[in-house]
Amino acid sequence: MADFFGGMENVSATTLVDWLPDARAYQDRPWYLTLLIPHELAHQWFGDYVTTEDWANLWLNEGFAEFMPGQYWGHKLGAHAAQDYYADEYRQYMAIDARKPMALASYHSDNIYPKGALVLQMLQDELGPTRFWASIHTYLTRHAYSNATSDDLRQAILATTGENLSLFWSEWVYGAGYPAFDVTARYDSAQATLRLEVKQTQRDTLHADSAGVQFHVPEVFRMPVAVRVGTAQGDVMYHGQLDAREQTITIAGVRSAPTMVVFDDGNHVLKALTFDQPTAWLAAQLARDENLWDRAWAIGELAKRPTDPDAATALATAAAHADYYLTRQQAVEALGGFSSDVAMGPVAAALKDTSSAVRGAAVAALGKLGGDRAVSLLRDTFDHDNSYDVRAAAVTALVEADSARAHDVLARALRTPSYREVIQHAAIQGIARLQDTARVNDLAAMLALDALPAQALGVLAARGDAHALEALAAHLDDERAGVRRYVLTGFRVALTRPDHSAVLARLKSAAAGLTHADTKAAADALIARMEKGGPPAGGRDN
Ligand SMILES: [Zn+2]
Repeated sequence: MADFFGGMENVSATTLVDWLPDARAYQDRPWYLTLLIPHELAHQWFGDYVTTEDWANLWLNEGFAEFMPGQYWGHKLGAHAAQDYYADEYRQYMAIDARKPMALASYHSDNIYPKGALVLQMLQDELGPTRFWASIHTYLTRHAYSNATSDDLRQAILATTGENLSLFWSEWVYGAGYPAFDVTARYDSAQATLRLEVKQTQRDTLHADSAGVQFHVPEVFRMPVAVRVGTAQGDVMYHGQLDAREQTITIAGVRSAPTMVVFDDGNHVLKALTFDQPTAWLAAQLARDENLWDRAWAIGELAKRPTDPDAATALATAAAHADYYLTRQQAVEALGGFSSDVAMGPVAAALKDTSSAVRGAAVAALGKLGGDRAVSLLRDTFDHDNSYDVRAAAVTALVEADSARAHDVLARALRTPSYREVIQHAAIQGIARLQDTARVNDLAAMLALDALPAQALGVLAARGDAHALEALAAHLDDERAGVRRYVLTGFRVALTRPDHSAVLARLKSAAAGLTHADTKAAADALIARMEKGGPPAGGRDN
């Protein structure tokens, strides 16, 4: 559907935004395919067939709909594809939870989508797939064409497996937050033991809201944990229980110095992890660990050591040889923070990767590394890569690496069509960033694209470019209602400059002659608000 955002799971007739990828866009793993279609399809069961009892249990709709695409991709493409999907949910969850930790079963929770997916993944781990799916079958058949609460799901699991998951529910469904582990390791060669001091450092800072409702972040999350200790004689495995704010784990039988220590082996717990380790342990984990979250964590630690040649070597090895694109992509991204001496070789090689995501990461890293070779590679990539996303990233990186030599590429990128206009968007943002006033006429000719060209004109006008200001004024009475709305947005951007008297004066003179009543009313409201000293972006005026 046009003029629509996202998807809506109407019973047996889902509606989707009209962003159907073209053949070339599929290599960039579009959200439309990766998430939107399977998410809305899953709603036919979770949401439509069984519907949440009330808004406080909405995660039963959205958490399951967000969980199921990972199951689909895992089934279709293998375990790494599922881990890849949930790693992205993890990034979303951390961003949302940092703003406000919320229980899954709560009214108006923002994190029901990614947290729901991640908690269901933990639940599947805890029960095992056979018992998990048998329980889901019970849940769906018990509540078919009817409603359900969070506890109905727990009861379905209890009836199917005999497992009473009240502790899991209290921590992960009715409680907020997640465990933040701070781990330190000490090896005792005489005793052949490795001792881990494990602290849970999450804090409960939540207050009651105006309705008196208060959620809690548990002081202690209780759960099983596995630790893998690599040694020259093979791996030593430890299985135990986490059940205290601070506890010591003693792992016996470690007969030679550890070469690697993986806390929560297999990444079964939704968590944050602080664990300062020698570079050699991180390098070993990155090379050996099958789990993509674990690898990403090791890459994040190595990225903090940009002057350590062993860290650079470990990342370069992963960038070239890791068996899944996401690890190669993340290793290349990390190399962008190292010096050109060690990073340029592996980053340049990554431009030939079969995955467009890895090539896109290489392009972004080249933008950070800069220099003649980077600029030449970026220009070549813009001309020859067949991925829309990579070419768009090359435009952005070129602006960052060498603003003086980016102008001709920006001009060509403005005329390059692509899926969801990613290349044109990169060019428009580059023009705004470089204040490339030579492109004002091009931007004015693109005003119907979306709000971005008008916003770029607004940025140029805010910096005092009279030509850009005139281009906005000339289109404030455009025949196309969308263009008039975008132009008003451009004026709003221009009015954010502290000294905006010239912009406001031009808006007033243009508004005086407007023939379209909707734009006239919106422009007058904006002018009135500015004259009262209000912000240009507040309120509704279009
Ligand atoms: Zn949904």
